[in-house]
Amino acid sequence: MANSYSAEQFKEAILAKDIAMLSRAITMIESTRADDKKRASELIDSLLPYVGNSIRIGITGVPGVGKSTFIEAFGMALIAMGKKVAVLAIDPSSSISHGSILGDKTRMEQLSVHPHAFIRPSASSGSLGGITYKTHETILLCEAAGFDVIIVETVGVGQSETEVSQICDFFLLLMLAGAGDELQGIKRGIMELADGVVITKADSGNAEKAKAARNEYARALHFMPPTTSGWIPQVKVCSAYQNEGITEVWEMINQFAQHQSTNGFFYENRQQQNIFAFHRLLQEQLRDTLLRKPGLNEQIKSLEQQITEGNISPYTAVGLILN
Ligand code: GDP
Repeated sequence: MANSYSAEQFKEAILAKDIAMLSRAITMIESTRADDKKRASELIDSLLPYVGNSIRIGITGVPGVGKSTFIEAFGMALIAMGKKVAVLAIDPSSSISHGSILGDKTRMEQLSVHPHAFIRPSASSGSLGGITYKTHETILLCEAAGFDVIIVETVGVGQSETEVSQICDFFLLLMLAGAGDELQGIKRGIMELADGVVITKADSGNAEKAKAARNEYARALHFMPPTTSGWIPQVKVCSAYQNEGITEVWEMINQFAQHQSTNGFFYENRQQQNIFAFHRLLQEQLRDTLLRKPGLNEQIKSLEQQITEGNISPYTAVGLILN
């Protein structure tokens, strides 16, 4: 058991904005123990009347693009406006990115100690679907604890973006200017998910290049299929070092939220987020239930043997396990 508090004790503490208890509750959500899972879902259910009052922002970009520096500047700017900011960092591919999110202790120095900020790395093991499901629940806990801007940060290595975009209201892509072809290194599919693009490090010798890149991306986005909500993704430049262009990003997100609220897409997207979480959880629980089947490993080994010998097809083998 991650701790001995009841769901009711957690609920009261989280609603009273007790950050230590919020942290413990997230640990409980991430736990794979059956009793923790049961208490976690009781807790989430009891908090449902208190969630939803935030803007959920997904932020992605390749390692080195300046995500943590941007989030530090952005988060501090939001706090200065009176907001409370939670940052949930997902690193599903720490072997690929060398743990760039979790490894670097100097990330977000000011934000990480600010009483109006909460920074939490998400579990880096397990299936990505499981992580995003738990991140969805973590978002709900943070909302109940009074955080009104939730940032979900992910390393842009091509795996996690789709899923993260499905648990957020606004999906922001950070990009670098220059480096030859302006559009190199960015997968078209990710670009299509973006509600906004920000060219980072637009300072010193890089400012002109950043503006050129902004025009280039704006043109590229122009040729993308229009979003169903009618929102036209915007491209901004910023320098986190010089604190320039940071509030403009917030203005863009506000415009987006207003646009989506007016035409009903904001609410619709939230419902979609819940449905997505439901499917993720269902998949995870089905897998867990199946993996607890007695003698499963032996059966898998025997079926592998039969497949190798050409006695049965993989399809039939799966059928045998499920039956
Ligand atoms: P992440 O891996 O995407 O989180 O990127 P970081 O925030 O760690 O930044 C990567 C590198 O870019 C670091 O050396 C930063 O100091 C640098 N960097 C970040 N933001 C800026 C900026 O606004 N201007 C400049 N010139 N460098 C920056």
